[in-house]
Amino acid sequence: MMHAIQILPEAVASQIAAGEVIERPASVVKELLENALDAGARQVTVRVEDAGRRLMEIADDGAGIAAAELPLAVTRHATSKLRSAEDLFHIQTLGFRGEALASIGSVSRLTLTSRPAQHAVGARLVVEGGTLRANEPLGTPEGTVVRVENLFFNVPARLKFLKRDITERQQIDALVTRYALAYPQVRFSLFQDGRAVLQTSGNGDRREILASLLGVDTARQMIEVALEDQDVRVQGYISPVALTRSNRREITFFVNGRWVQDSALSTALLQAYRTLLMVGRFPLAVLFVELDPEAVDVNVHPAKAEVRFRSPDAVFSGVQRAVRRALLTSSPVPQVSSGWQPPQPTALGQGAFDLHSASRPAIDPAWDMAADLARAEKSEGAAVNAASAQNPAALPPSGMLPLLRLVGQVGGTYLVAEGPDGLYLIDQHAAHERVLFERMMGGLTAPLAGQALLEAAVVQLPAAQAALLNEQIPLLSRLGFDIEPFGPNTFRVRAIPALITGSDPAAAVRVLVEDFEEDETPLQAEREARLVARICKRAAVKGGQSLSPEEQRALLRDLEACFSPRTCPHGRPTMIHLTVDVLERQFGRRGSR
Ligand code: ADP
Ligand code: MG
Repeated sequence: MMHAIQILPEAVASQIAAGEVIERPASVVKELLENALDAGARQVTVRVEDAGRRLMEIADDGAGIAAAELPLAVTRHATSKLRSAEDLFHIQTLGFRGEALASIGSVSRLTLTSRPAQHAVGARLVVEGGTLRANEPLGTPEGTVVRVENLFFNVPARLKFLKRDITERQQIDALVTRYALAYPQVRFSLFQDGRAVLQTSGNGDRREILASLLGVDTARQMIEVALEDQDVRVQGYISPVALTRSNRREITFFVNGRWVQDSALSTALLQAYRTLLMVGRFPLAVLFVELDPEAVDVNVHPAKAEVRFRSPDAVFSGVQRAVRRALLTSSPVPQVSSGWQPPQPTALGQGAFDLHSASRPAIDPAWDMAADLARAEKSEGAAVNAASAQNPAALPPSGMLPLLRLVGQVGGTYLVAEGPDGLYLIDQHAAHERVLFERMMGGLTAPLAGQALLEAAVVQLPAAQAALLNEQIPLLSRLGFDIEPFGPNTFRVRAIPALITGSDPAAAVRVLVEDFEEDETPLQAEREARLVARICKRAAVKGGQSLSPEEQRALLRDLEACFSPRTCPHGRPTMIHLTVDVLERQFGRRGSR
C-alpha cells in the first residue's frame, strides 16, 4: 500500500523531535536545569512528584522571559542563545537548539510562568500536548517557574518504556546532584514527593556536594585533581585505587559545564589507572574539563550528551596526566616507614597496645607510590598459575596495607588486628572473598583447576537461561567448570572449581546463570570478574565460622598481598580502620587536656 508524500502536521513533527530529546523524566529536568543555568540563576529549586510522571517543577531566579516572548519560548527553533550558524562554533550557553520547551510542551502539560527583573508584571502560558491553552499577565516573583505535568500523557508508548519509579527517581537525583557539583556557586534544592533530597549552599565548596553524591565516607577518600594546562583545565575528584566499583556508573565528565557521556574520556581516565585496579573494577570520578569553547563542537547530539573535540588527543592526554599525577601525589593508604616492624606476638593484655607511646605513628610522608605502581605493573605480568589459587603459599605483601599483627577473632566473624596506625577490624568473609577473587583473577591467564564430581549433576534450565549458559561455557571451563550440553536445555556438570567443592553443583550453576541474566555489560572482562566474584562469595569462609589462629593469620597475610585489600569484590568494605587519632579522641586523651 502506498501513500502520497505529505509534510507532517506540526504536532506530529514536534512529537518526533521530542522523541530525540525527551526520553524520560530526567531528560526534562536536564533541559530545564540547563535553561535556568543559562539564565544566570543563583538559586534553582526542583520539585518532583511521582518520579516525574505527575510533576516536575523547576523554579529559578534568573533573567526571566518577557511576557511578549513567552509564546516564542515554546516554539520550535526559537532561541535567544544563537543568531547565526557561525555562533554554533563558540557556544557559551548550555542550550542553543531552541527545541527543549517546544518538545516538552508537545508531550505534557507545560506551564511557563516568568518575569524579568525590569518588568513590573510577568505572565503565564500553558501548553498542553502542543496546543496553546492560556497566556495571561500575572504578578509573579522575578525569575522563571516551569511546571511539567503528566509527561507523555499523549504518547502512551513512551510511558511504557519508563523504568520503575525508583529508577526514574534515581536518575533525577543523580542528574541534579551532578549539576549541583558542576555549579557549586548556585544553590540547588531538590524535593521528591515533598522530601528534601538535596540542598546545596551555593558557597562554592564542592566537597560538601560530593558527600551528597557519594556519601560522607566515600567522599572523604576522594582525591582532588587539578591540572592547569595551556589549552585544557581538568579539575575534580577521583577515587584512590582502593576504592572501586564494578561498573562505570560513577564516572562523570563535564565539559565546559555540560554533562557529557564520552567513552573516550572514560578510557583516558581508565588508562591512568591501568594496572592499579583489578580487572572488572572501575574508579569513581567526577571530572570537570574546561577548554576554549571553539575547541569543542557541541552540536553533535540531539540531547547534547556528546561533544566532539577539535584536538581529542590533547584533551585525553590532559585528563590522563591530571589523573595520573593526582594518583601519584596522594597516598591513599598510609604506608609504614621502613623502620617499623610488626610487634612480636604477645599475649593479650600485656601492654602490646601502648597506644600512647605509639601515638605518633611512623607514617612515611614520602611514601613512594611510584614504586608501588612499578611493583603492581611487574606483578601484573608475572604468571600466577592455577595452582596458586588453591595453594595459599604466601604472596609478598602488595604494600597497599601496612603489615598487621593479629590480635584475635571476635564473634567468630571479625578479626582484630593491630597496625602501625591503629586498630583494624576485619570482616573475615569479605576479606576472604577479596583474597580468593584476586587469586582467581590472577590465575585467569591459565585455567583454574576443576574438581571432578564423582557423579555428574544434571541441570535443566528454561530456554532463555540455557542459551545464556551455552554462550558462557568456554569462560566457565576456564574457571574450573566442566559443563556440557546434554539434551535440549539440559546440561551435565562434570566438574566444578576446586574452590567451591562441597557446594551443590547444580545449585551453583543455577546461581551463575541468574547472574548472566542481570548482567548487561557487553564486556567480557567485566563478566569474568563478576562471575569470579560470585564464585568467591560462595567459596569464602562465612561470618560466624570460627577460624584457628593459624587460619586467621593466614587470612591476614593473604589480605596484605591483595592490591585492593580494603573492599570485597562487590565493593563493600573488608575492614574498619580505627586510627590512633580516633582512639585517642574517643578516650578523651586528646583535646581534653
Ligand atoms: P534553548 O535553551 O536551546 O534556547 P529552549 O527551548 O530550552 O531552547 O528555550 C527557549 C528559550 O526560552 C531560551 O532561548 C530562553 O531565551 C528562554 N528560556 C527558557 N527557559 C528559561 C529560563 N528558565 N529563564 C529564562 N529564559 C528561559
Ligand atoms: Mg534549553
